Amino acid sequence: MSVKNDRASWLHAGDARCSIPPAVPRKIYRPILLGAPGVGKGTQGDLICARLGTCHLSTGDIFRAAKCSGERERSPALALALVFMRHGDLVPDTTVLNIVRERERCLRCRGGFLLDGFPRTIAQADALGILLEHNKLKLDAVIDYELPLEKIIARLAGRRTCPDCKTTFHVTDRPPREENICDECGGKLFQREDDQPEAILIRMAAYKASTQPLIEYYRRRNLLITVATADTPEETYQRTLAQLQTLPSPATTAAASQFPPSGRPPG
Ligand code: AMP
Repeated sequence: MSVKNDRASWLHAGDARCSIPPAVPRKIYRPILLGAPGVGKGTQGDLICARLGTCHLSTGDIFRAAKCSGERERSPALALALVFMRHGDLVPDTTVLNIVRERERCLRCRGGFLLDGFPRTIAQADALGILLEHNKLKLDAVIDYELPLEKIIARLAGRRTCPDCKTTFHVTDRPPREENICDECGGKLFQREDDQPEAILIRMAAYKASTQPLIEYYRRRNLLITVATADTPEETYQRTLAQLQTLPSPATTAAASQFPPSGRPPG
């Protein structure tokens, strides 16, 4: 897959349409990525989507896109979400669910979807189940990435992000060629507010209390796949792919086939 979909429909909702229609992959996948903050879900999401053609639907990316937009362009729901995000707290379920419902058509994307950072609570998972049923769609798998806590904290605390192209670096594991300057586009790297030490502790506590129970939730529904995070993103990706390929034929459904390859994509 050579061209990246800009995800305009997902990031901006309303009338926004993705400028590059998602390609129709040979196999349509619809997984969820689980795992604590910092395990590398975003990086795996990018790799999986670039190679399998799936559309990367991250709720965190919606909030970051809202943060970059002008205050007047933000809906009250998004403005409220940013206050929670800044402190490392989870955004309340009602706000997240309103935001996801506004983007419901992205679930029917003809490229399939990969949910990253959503659902994060049992209430969100229940609501997602209803949305999928309503759209006659099924999940293929819920991939849980595992990494020891001390490695997670070191990863988050050393992460630096480019505000322009969103490439991430790490002060020791993946330093940029020039200090604080993005190798890809020359942007000035910054540390996300929610990667500051106090926010990391709050995020980890929120993960344990609200998101970890989803492991059991999806295990009981026979959807859980566990992947131990490897030393490199590529190795982790290969482990993920190997697991995805063992799944029975992905859930292609009547709803997805409403959008024929030559027709206008829904997202
Ligand atoms: P992420 O990039 O997925 O780590 O998300 C960054 C931040 O956005 C999180 O720390 C939360 O404040 C907020 N967030 C993203 N997705 C959700 C969600 N599904 N539920 C609640 N808060 C979320």
